[in-house]
Amino acid sequence: MRRGSAIRLRHAVVLLGFLASGASGQIAPNLDWRTIKTQHFYVHFNPATEGLARRIAANAERAYVELSNEMHPPRGTIDIVISDDVDLSNGSATPTPTNRIVIYASPPVSETALRYTNDWAQLVVTHELTHIFHLDRSRGIWALSQKVFGRAPLLFPNSYSPSWLTEGIAVYEESKIAGGGRIDGSEHRMIARASAIDHRFPPIGALSLAQGHFPFGETAYSYGSLFIDYLARTRGEAHVREFVDKSSANLIPYLIDIPAKRSFGESFLRGWKNFSDSVGRSIRAESTEPLMVLTSTCSSALSGRRTVTSPETLLRSSRASSGTSRSRVRSPETVSAVTRSLVLATTVRSPDTVVKRSAPVRSRVSRAPLTVCALAGSVYGGACDIALACEEY
Ligand SMILES: [Zn+2]
Repeated sequence: MRRGSAIRLRHAVVLLGFLASGASGQIAPNLDWRTIKTQHFYVHFNPATEGLARRIAANAERAYVELSNEMHPPRGTIDIVISDDVDLSNGSATPTPTNRIVIYASPPVSETALRYTNDWAQLVVTHELTHIFHLDRSRGIWALSQKVFGRAPLLFPNSYSPSWLTEGIAVYEESKIAGGGRIDGSEHRMIARASAIDHRFPPIGALSLAQGHFPFGETAYSYGSLFIDYLARTRGEAHVREFVDKSSANLIPYLIDIPAKRSFGESFLRGWKNFSDSVGRSIRAESTEPLMVLTSTCSSALSGRRTVTSPETLLRSSRASSGTSRSRVRSPETVSAVTRSLVLATTVRSPDTVVKRSAPVRSRVSRAPLTVCALAGSVYGGACDIALACEEY
C-alpha cells in the first residue's frame, strides 16, 4: 500500500495483514472482474481465481459468524479482492474509506509459520477479517467524529495501536477460529523460547514491524500473538473483546494501558513482565525432562538442494543465502543427521532443544563474535519442514 503522507504510511504499515513482509502488488484494473455477493461480503475476482474466490466467500461468512461471538461486528458490507499479481502469500485489511480486504492468491509454500493449518484460505481470511472487526470498532467521540467527517483514516482509534497489538489479536483469533495457525504452530513459540534461553527476551517496546534483528518483522506477530494468548488464558478470553471495546472509546488512543487495566486488570507493561517470566519458567521446567528422539511425523528422504555435513558448512551456506537456510526434510534419520551436524547431538526433543544446544557449538566453530541461529520445525502435508535462520551480531 503506497500512501502519500508519513501519517498515512504509518497506518498502512499497521494495517498490513498476514505476514511481516511489506511487499505489495498493484492490482490489475483491466481484468475481467466479477463479484460474488454474500450476506456480509462482496468478493471480487477474475476468472482465473474463481475457485479460490468461492472458497474465500464461504470461509469469510463462517469467520464472520465466529468472530461475531468474539467482537462487535463491523459496519456495512466488506469488500474482499482476490489478487493474483504477486508471487508471495499475504493479505491486508483497512477500515477506510470502507472496510476492505485484499488476499493474494498465493498459498504459503515458503512461509513455514503459516503452514500449520488445514485450510490456508480459512486462515488468511479469518486473520484479515479480525483486523476489520478490531479496527472498525469506534465509540464515543470517535464515532461522533465519523458521523460528521466520514470514515477518515485518522478517526479510527484502534488503528493507532502498536503493531504487536494489532497483529497479536489477529493471529490469536486466526488460531482460535480457523484452527491451527501460528498460536498452535511451533515457530512463534520457538522464537520466544530461544530468546529467553539466550537472555534476549525483548522489552514490549521493541516489538515492532520495523525490528532490525532476527526475527525482523515477525517480532510483532510472534511475541504479540503469544502475549495476547497468554492474557486470554490467564485473565479470561472475554477480556479480549472487552479491551477492544474500551480502546475504541479511548480519547488518547496511544495510552493503551488505560483500557488494558480496565479490561485485563493490569497494564500491558505488567502483563508483559508476567508473560516473559512464564516463558522463562517453562524453559527451566523442561530442561529437567529427559531427551527423546524426534520421531514419526516425518517420513521419506531429504529433498533439499543443500547437503549439510558440518556446522561449518551450515554456517557458510546460511551466510551465502543472506542469512537464511531452508531445507525440506522428510525422515527422522535426516532430521537427526541435520541436527547432529548442527549441534553434534543424536537426539533432540524439539526445535527449542536444537537452539538451546547449538549456540555453544557454533561459537567454538565459527569464532564469530556471536552468531544466533533459530531452527523451526513444522509438519505440513506429511512432511517435516525445517527452517534455519542465522544472524551475526
Ligand atoms: Zn495482520
